Amino acid sequence: MLGAPPEDPPIARHSLADQAMLRLRQDIVQGRLAPDEVLTEQSLSARLGVGRGTVRTALFSLEADELVVRAPYSNWRVAPLNEQVIWEIYTLREALEGLAARVLADRLTENGLIRLQRALAGLVAVEDASADARVAADLHLHRDIVELTRHSHLIRRYAALSAKIEWLYRWSERHWPKRRPMADSHIHLIQALTGGDGDAAEAAVRLHISISLREDLDGFRELQAQSVDPV
Ligand SMILES: [Zn+2]
Repeated sequence: MLGAPPEDPPIARHSLADQAMLRLRQDIVQGRLAPDEVLTEQSLSARLGVGRGTVRTALFSLEADELVVRAPYSNWRVAPLNEQVIWEIYTLREALEGLAARVLADRLTENGLIRLQRALAGLVAVEDASADARVAADLHLHRDIVELTRHSHLIRRYAALSAKIEWLYRWSERHWPKRRPMADSHIHLIQALTGGDGDAAEAAVRLHISISLREDLDGFRELQAQSVDPV
């Protein structure tokens, strides 16, 4: 039926809050807003050109992703980044992705294998590319491993952690760019997943993640020892 376009102010308000949330999410994940940085609704309102109510809605969404935390006097802060946080994110990744690898080793289809091989080829292609491209290609492969399990509860839990995973990865890539060769550090994961042995597949994924955990913790401590602000 033709007529005037429907007016729907609530949706418009929501989409503005969504846009504000996505901008802030990017600013935090990409490090333009530093860990622990104080965020006032007033300054964010000016920065984003939207009302304080919209900013608050965006901040509540980001709180659910654990990218911001509430601070006294109705202020907010970007989430802290410290040794405990690094350890928590990587060990949670080990558990979730280890389970994914175990499940997938048992049910990897021909199409699933093609998808993993494409993701691996994507890593070869970005070996000398920008940090953006490298981080995206690496996380793409890890997300594929989780999604190919078709374990919907696991996929949702992993998606809820994805912003934090990228945030930590980008911090690491800023301090120690191209620390590991992209393709070489992942090829054994694909081999383990195609071997059909759940124990071996889980162990390979856990080892891959635990190396990053150790390197990031060592790096964090080294920066502190040099009196460099690690974040
Ligand atoms: Zn990786």
